[in-house]
Amino acid sequence: MSVQPRRTTESASTTDTVRLSGVGFGYADAPGVLRDVNLTLPVGSFHFLTGPSGAGKSTLLKLLTLAERPTAGRLELFGLDAGFARRSSLPGFRRRMGVVFQDFRLLDHLSAFDNVALPLRLSGVRREAYADDVREMLDWVGLGERINARPPSLSGGEKQRLAIARAVVSGPDLILADEPTGSVDDAMGERLLKLFQAMNRLGTTVLIASHDEALAERSGAKVLRLERGRVRGGEA
Ligand code: ADP
Repeated sequence: MSVQPRRTTESASTTDTVRLSGVGFGYADAPGVLRDVNLTLPVGSFHFLTGPSGAGKSTLLKLLTLAERPTAGRLELFGLDAGFARRSSLPGFRRRMGVVFQDFRLLDHLSAFDNVALPLRLSGVRREAYADDVREMLDWVGLGERINARPPSLSGGEKQRLAIARAVVSGPDLILADEPTGSVDDAMGERLLKLFQAMNRLGTTVLIASHDEALAERSGAKVLRLERGRVRGGEA
């Protein structure tokens, strides 16, 4: 695959993409989902985050995408304090991430091509410069024939693959994926895993939340386990 990471921001001189210490978070009706999370993801590392349904994997990803703020502890992203970052600085953090949401969050009025192109357009890349990368990425995830289709006409598995293509196309510093193989068969799951591994070889830090422990083991990635509000194996 020839898609190259496009860095929009200079990396701070840090060896860790993510660093959480003593992080806690809960909801009004589900307090203490995360109690004391210590987690370090060095630059260029590849981890799976496993744990039973309801353990808090999606919640931890919400903290990392800055959709929620920790109620205790410290959250650093790219060497910067993100836990207390101002709202105005959130887009800067998010531009450095590619996120695969469990509910995909595709834009229904845009074609598959334009959904994947969106992060590149938003970072100011011209269409002539990204069109081949977008087509190549759609081919890679098996959507080359559906390039003009809009999300409502795609199956669940196709939407998932489109969401993954969008998350990786800009070569972000950090990829966060929530159950990214939940809607595809095993063969496609292996193919998508190869895509994450290829991005990781290009230097991207990858964290995949999945209840699929067999896939996590086969990936060769370091496997973290979320249990009773803590991450086992999370400290570098
Ligand atoms: P996982 O991704 O491991 O399945 P979640 O992070 O989705 O776990 O959920 C962890 C716990 O937090 C569960 O008990 C869930 O019911 C609760 N929870 C998740 N989201 C919310 C929310 N928006 N409001 C209240 N409780 C929530």
